[in-house]
Amino acid sequence: VLKNKGKNGYQFFTTSMKESANQRLEKEISLSQGLEKGEFVLHYQPKVYISTGEVYGMEALVRWNSENGLVYPGDFIDLAEETGMIVPLGEWVLREACRQCKEWHELGHTHLKVSVNVSAIQFQKQDFAELTARILKETGLEPAALELELTESTVMEKPKEAAAILMRLQQLGVSISIDDFGTGFSSFSYLKQFPMNALKIDRSFIQNIEEEEADKAIAKAMISLARNLGLMIVAEGVENEKQMEILRKAGCDAAQGYFFSRPLDTSAFLDYIRRSKAR
Ligand code: C2E
Ligand code: MG
Ligand code: MG
Ligand code: MG
Repeated sequence: VLKNKGKNGYQFFTTSMKESANQRLEKEISLSQGLEKGEFVLHYQPKVYISTGEVYGMEALVRWNSENGLVYPGDFIDLAEETGMIVPLGEWVLREACRQCKEWHELGHTHLKVSVNVSAIQFQKQDFAELTARILKETGLEPAALELELTESTVMEKPKEAAAILMRLQQLGVSISIDDFGTGFSSFSYLKQFPMNALKIDRSFIQNIEEEEADKAIAKAMISLARNLGLMIVAEGVENEKQMEILRKAGCDAAQGYFFSRPLDTSAFLDYIRRSKAR
């Protein structure tokens, strides 16, 4: 069942391979057993202020440390969403990210803010805002140190309900960021309907920003849109210095990507923070 994917570790199925019902069931079972066995881990990717180079936070990215190697979200999030497994998995991610951030605060890195990806199915569960409040209480993390990353489609699917949940989250003091900004099909109207704090320019616009004038124009427009709306703007998937310079000149607030660091396990992340403070 497992296919070697080289440096990315393992993948359950190649995308071209049709999964038989049996294979799906097998994968589904091992996924939920993985959660019970504590096989999921979070890696953290630094988020950096472009003007100062300061690491102000990190995005929590889930990985499955299965007996066959490290499995990336692209290979299990869809199935977890289809089966509803994303609800307990997402709850685990949120709790673990808050717990870890609090631990780093206690080590003196009190400025760090943690970003957590939330899937639509998890978000639409009626008690999502309550769950978040409970987890913050349990872990002792200040609400201001938590940011939730949602996609446009997540908030646009049921806009009325979403607005109420977002309002409640903002009352708690939690930040909201729109992930993969610019890749959805929604209008801009939600930007004024919903309380939010930041937009993340999708990697697809950053990838060829050096040579594609259109990508550069779009990224610049997003930056000015965010500024005029009073939102923070973050570029994702920044891989080199040239991209970085273009974003800096355009006035982008923050960035994230392999140029700074790949997502790191907890001990490597702590090393990274210590080294970046020393610089
Ligand atoms: P995302 O939230 O847009 O996360 C960014 C993805 O881009 C991550 O992939 C990250 O490793 C990758 N990335 C970061 N910098 C670079 C770069 O410079 N170049 C390139 N090529 N890639 C870069 P990852 O970790 O495989 O996650 C993929 C997606 O899976 C995430 O996209 C997010 O939508 C989802 N995901 C990850 N963790 C969670 C989670 O805990 N819960 C939910 N619901 N979804 C998650
Ligand atoms: Mg994200
Ligand atoms: Mg993203
Ligand atoms: Mg993206």
